[in-house]
Amino acid sequence: MDSTVTLEQIVAWAKRRGFIFQTSTIYGGLANNYDYGPYGATLKNNIRNHWWNTFVEKRNDVVGLDGAIITHPTVWEASGHTSSFSDPLVEDTVNHKRYRADHVIEAWANKKGEEVNTEAMDLNAMSKFISDNKILSEDGNALSDAREFNLLFETHIGAVEAEKDTAYLRGETAQSIFVNYKNILDTMRVRIPFGIAQIGKAFRNEITKGQFIFRTIEFEQMEIEYFIHPEADWDSIMQQWLEDMKQFYLDLGADSDNVRFREHDKEELSHYSKRTYDPEFKFDFGWKEIAGLAYRTDFDLSQHAKFSSKKLEYRDPQTNEVYVPHVVEPSFGLTRAVLVALYSAYKEEDLGDGKSRVVMKFPAHIAPVKAAIFPLQKDDKLVAKAEELFNELNSEFQCEFDNAGNIGKMYRRQDEIGTPFCITVDYDTLEKGTVTIRDRDTMEQETISIDEVKAYILEKI
Ligand code: ATP
Repeated sequence: MDSTVTLEQIVAWAKRRGFIFQTSTIYGGLANNYDYGPYGATLKNNIRNHWWNTFVEKRNDVVGLDGAIITHPTVWEASGHTSSFSDPLVEDTVNHKRYRADHVIEAWANKKGEEVNTEAMDLNAMSKFISDNKILSEDGNALSDAREFNLLFETHIGAVEAEKDTAYLRGETAQSIFVNYKNILDTMRVRIPFGIAQIGKAFRNEITKGQFIFRTIEFEQMEIEYFIHPEADWDSIMQQWLEDMKQFYLDLGADSDNVRFREHDKEELSHYSKRTYDPEFKFDFGWKEIAGLAYRTDFDLSQHAKFSSKKLEYRDPQTNEVYVPHVVEPSFGLTRAVLVALYSAYKEEDLGDGKSRVVMKFPAHIAPVKAAIFPLQKDDKLVAKAEELFNELNSEFQCEFDNAGNIGKMYRRQDEIGTPFCITVDYDTLEKGTVTIRDRDTMEQETISIDEVKAYILEKI
């Protein structure tokens, strides 16, 4: 990573170049939610597809699922979300602005250069820490005691609001997988160990504001529940997943030094988890969680079996042994993966002579536009030839046609959206059948035959 990249630069660039906008800007915006513009939507799709391809299509031990966002409300009672899916909240006692208690403490510790592990603190410990250290709100007012704030979004099914109609927008995609465990087992030829994978939206009523797409109230997760025998060597299985998870982020362009795994200590572990690792990425606002890998034992299947009175077991076809499988869960945030790709790609380069460029060095397979085609000048013959080439290439991969006339400006624009190749159609194209192809990263230009362009680019993407 270029250590000078800041969130501010990324936010400004993403808006300027049509990647990411704040939601509902014409109405003044909505905190903690974002819309993906044309390039952002394509980038996100490319990352999503790479994940699905890597973890579902290329593996023969994982099957896919696309579950509903609104489920039976008991799903969230069984999973423990209605009672304990919460963040510690403190309020400014004067203007009632809300903050996450752990974040307030971490920000204070950061400033003092002290290490504090908030994950190991309960509500009382946080309240005490805040009052002992006289930590104030951003506006300089005293803070209330910490209390739990449930993150689940409630909604109502049907025309009349009544308590019995309360439902929830899913707080994680994982639960749709557990409630479909039996459907998959009954319909697919799966054998333990096997995984069920899902990509989809999840919703959390997050308190913290101002972290761009890192923390939003609506986001996408990419999760796998990998079912194993209760006595399987879960440690080795987790180590293999850690390697695969890391490779996924390297594939998005992350530098190996900017990805690490933080193991949760005992106090931090959820009651059902025997071990958890958080893959973290080095942002300018610190090392932050981008995914999770947890050994969840048989907690979820047992809970759903209890609440639904259905058997959620597995019978080994060879030995006839019957058991409730255990589960290892690799859980990725798609929108955080987008942020990793943006941080890893963003470069500001000095080109000498007072010139500079912003260039997004996306790996070609995730770049929203693979190639841009320009006629050298606004000459009808060149334009027609360039359009012909554009139509041919665009049917294979995403291309752009630009005929603004100023090659330098057109290069800069494509650099800024991360297009790996720019192809110029000039008079040699008409006479000798060659084009100039320019590489985004090296800025070197090569002359190749127009007939070879498609194969040249396909090979590189
Ligand atoms: P955090 O501690 O940052 O709130 P978490 O531990 O609650 O995250 P998990 O419940 O483990 O997150 O969810 C798995 C993944 O889903 C996270 O690693 C992250 O990539 C993504 N994720 C969770 N909450 C959000 C959010 N509000 N916005 C964007 N992505 C999120």
